[in-house]
Amino acid sequence: MNDIAEDIILKKYDIYADDYSDYPHKSNWSKEFGDKEYRTALNETFSSKNQSPTLLYVHIPFCRTLCYYCICHKEITSDYNKILDHFNNYLSKELKILNQFLKENSLNPNFKEIFLGGGSPTLLEKSEFDRLIELISEFCNIKNLDRFCIEVDPRTCSPEKLEYYIQKGINNISIGIQDFDHKVQKAVNRVQPVELVKRLLTPDIRKVIKSINFDFLVGLPFQTESSIEKTMKQTVELNPDRISFCFFHYTTKFHSHMKLLEKDIPDFAQRKRIFITGVNYLLNNGYIRTGFEHFAKADDIVAKSIREKKATYTSLGAIGKTTNVIAIGRSGHSILEDNYLIQNFYEQDLYATALSKNEFPIYRGKKLTKDDALRRYIIRQLKTYFAISIPYIENRINESFKNYFKNEIDLMNEFINDDLVHISAEEVAITEKGKLFTDLIASIFDNYLTHEGYPGT
Ligand code: SF4
Repeated sequence: MNDIAEDIILKKYDIYADDYSDYPHKSNWSKEFGDKEYRTALNETFSSKNQSPTLLYVHIPFCRTLCYYCICHKEITSDYNKILDHFNNYLSKELKILNQFLKENSLNPNFKEIFLGGGSPTLLEKSEFDRLIELISEFCNIKNLDRFCIEVDPRTCSPEKLEYYIQKGINNISIGIQDFDHKVQKAVNRVQPVELVKRLLTPDIRKVIKSINFDFLVGLPFQTESSIEKTMKQTVELNPDRISFCFFHYTTKFHSHMKLLEKDIPDFAQRKRIFITGVNYLLNNGYIRTGFEHFAKADDIVAKSIREKKATYTSLGAIGKTTNVIAIGRSGHSILEDNYLIQNFYEQDLYATALSKNEFPIYRGKKLTKDDALRRYIIRQLKTYFAISIPYIENRINESFKNYFKNEIDLMNEFINDDLVHISAEEVAITEKGKLFTDLIASIFDNYLTHEGYPGT
């Protein structure tokens, strides 16, 4: 595609699309779904003998300083007593409620992964980390895990601390980087020179850690095609096993701090070009694509799951073969098979009140209809494999794809004309050119959207 044609396409498809960390979007979940419904869902999911693998997610909602691009739920504090109080009085309590419920109902989820996220879980000192492991060990055999991962903030973690976590079972790490460029780091209020990351990745740590992930964001202030190429070069030299290279979603409705970035962020077309530059660099330097915004070394477990067509896409990226997520902590987001999506309270007072009544602190949830589950599957397939099999879908719905998805096919016509999507009798496939618009193409299957303003409407 020449530059003019590329500009026309970029302009035409400059439409906001959700990142589909899950479907249906949280705004469509019900606040009537609470503790009672969650207990029913847990019972339904984990009483079966043939269980899918489960991931336990624990959210530590504290950070020392605010990164201006942040969309995570967190509180900014430099007072460790606050973290201690939250850990001792709330997070521990929620883990105990889960443990008690699983025991009382003889439920044994098939835990294969744990992910400690946040916020900044590396703020946890040794004693709280030990206590966390003790509490989790009450209902989950840590020795049996395929993956025990902690999100690492290089500014609040040292090699010694990381070694301690490793002694306790951590075997995967995910490092928040976003960009190695100093000007970009300064603009987003997260200055962490590349040396801070290098210092953590000692030969001893590399020997025992099974997989190292680096997180990057595309579309931050002052990023350019050449700055991202330099960042990717530094990245490849550090040799992580996985890379998340995700678009920054500028949204000030719930994150007013992002206004601080407004005047310096690249526009839609520039963001897409920065993305292409980064993707090409990674593909030319030993990484394979494991989804729309994810990359891995060929021998990484996610790459293997992708080859076996068993990877699952969630808000944590493509996560191997795991299907269920049980989330602990404020704002935590649970997934139970293709049946339920559930989220904890964000607000400390509501979270604390529920726990004081020995209830799960559920804010909202959704029992998926058959149609929700089908569309969720399609969106995840498109985001992970860039294609869906029409015979598979027809088998599932017992109806012709053309009939069931008539509106969607009509909406896709313009995308087909622009060579972004191909449809055959066998599949709907996103083309190489179309991969840049994967979220937008996936959004065609979102039944809760009006699709007003889409090309061709
Ligand atoms: S460290 Fe992570 S969670 Fe904390 S403010 Fe920065 S991006 Fe947000």
